[in-house]
Amino acid sequence: MKQDLQLYNTISRKKELFQPLNAPHVGMYVCGPTVYSDVHLGNCRTFISFDLIFRYLKYSGYKVRYVRNITDAGHLEGDRDEGDDKFAKRAKLEQLEPMEIVQKYTLGFHEVLRMFNTLPPSIEPTATGHIIEQIEMIKTIINNGYAYEVNGTIYFDVEKYSQQYNYTILTNRNLEDMLANTRELGGQDDKHGRLDFALWIKAKPETLMQWASPWGMGFPGWHIECSAMSAKYLGQEFDIHGGGMDLAATHHTNEIAQSEACSHHQPAKYWMHTNMLTVNGTRMSKSAGNGFLPGELFTGNHPLLRKGYSPMTVKFFMLQAHYRSTLDFSNDALDASEKGFRRLMNAVSLLPKLTASEQGDVEIDPIKLNCENAMNDDFNSPVVIAELFEAARIINTVYDGALKISASELAKLKTLMHDFIFEVFGLKDEDSSNTELNEVLDMVIALRKDAKENKDYATSDLIRVGLQNIGIQLKDSKDGTTWSKN
Ligand code: AMP
Ligand code: ZN
Repeated sequence: MKQDLQLYNTISRKKELFQPLNAPHVGMYVCGPTVYSDVHLGNCRTFISFDLIFRYLKYSGYKVRYVRNITDAGHLEGDRDEGDDKFAKRAKLEQLEPMEIVQKYTLGFHEVLRMFNTLPPSIEPTATGHIIEQIEMIKTIINNGYAYEVNGTIYFDVEKYSQQYNYTILTNRNLEDMLANTRELGGQDDKHGRLDFALWIKAKPETLMQWASPWGMGFPGWHIECSAMSAKYLGQEFDIHGGGMDLAATHHTNEIAQSEACSHHQPAKYWMHTNMLTVNGTRMSKSAGNGFLPGELFTGNHPLLRKGYSPMTVKFFMLQAHYRSTLDFSNDALDASEKGFRRLMNAVSLLPKLTASEQGDVEIDPIKLNCENAMNDDFNSPVVIAELFEAARIINTVYDGALKISASELAKLKTLMHDFIFEVFGLKDEDSSNTELNEVLDMVIALRKDAKENKDYATSDLIRVGLQNIGIQLKDSKDGTTWSKN
């Protein structure tokens, strides 16, 4: 197990040496989607980033329990306990049961992440499956004096909590400024303090999803589910808590407050936040109306897209940026990623065809070390990709006969490419998984070979040029003919 991983902790605002509470075990909780509509590409970026982190922790020898929840109740439109319930609104719109909405969009979410080849989490708990745990936690917070009831709704008392704890520990904001920037309580507000937030919300008779509680019929606030479920599956103190950056200021700030008010522990040792996918500099979101659905991207069926891009091209595009940098969507960048990814896959497909020499000119260990150092430096995937391109250059040069590689270095090269491209990045070769295309091309290449042997150059050229016109290049060498896509 490697001990030199540094990761950026939002709470300390610096990179820290990763020291799990209970190595080799690692507990990681990531806020999952609110399943009331299709996930957009921005959401996917966050889940792909945590998939990379999960995969690299496993590669490093840790035994990771990765919990990613499904929010299927309790999420109101506004972050401040106002607005309609997202599920109820959608259920009315689509004339479905709220649980049909949940089922439909949970399946859609899983399908999209499957196309991106992300690993499933170890546990995927739902808010509606943990109402009892949430009620128990709220009871403890009330008993500890940090929450109060007003007419069947329970609010968290931020002022009381702030006397003992630091409410803004995660974002380092000034509490006075926050108060000044928060809307004053209106006449119909039941809250005592402007920053107070709901732990449990009293249901109206017409509320579609409601449960019995000691305070009457109601439903949980959005933040309490993550505190209750992380504690249940990872304990009151665990290693990593993650989510998109937009969650830090409210959702995660309130999660920390709830956990401390309940158990007097900071829930997570390391808080990790992924940066946003943007379109022309604006965060991609459902409400801004600039969200691509993954399906639109794969088919190219969107006014902002010149053409469609495969899931692995899109994933590669995301991995070419560090998870804490913003990533702006553009056709040009995706075109470049498409070429880069192909280049890498072509090199991988040449690996089995390389022949080792007695003596070699290359060493693979330095490349492997650079890859590991980059990942140990807060998961710096773009640097790893640059190293993999160097490995691809070596493969091509050996294949062309201009460089020699020994058998032991060739074995290392194969392991390196396999580990980083497939295990750590979770990429897959979309063309070689397309066995029909492979078989057809094998046949066409054999026909061309026959034609050449019969000196029928008109036919062999027809095949070569015809393939070129649909973006497939043939490459002849002493070992036979291989093909690649542009
Ligand atoms: P939601 O379903 O809205 O709760 O979001 C699910 C996850 O996607 C959260 O971790 C968000 O922070 C994240 N997210 C939302 N928009 C973006 C974006 N444009 N780029 C990256 N992550 C995002
Ligand atoms: Zn959460």
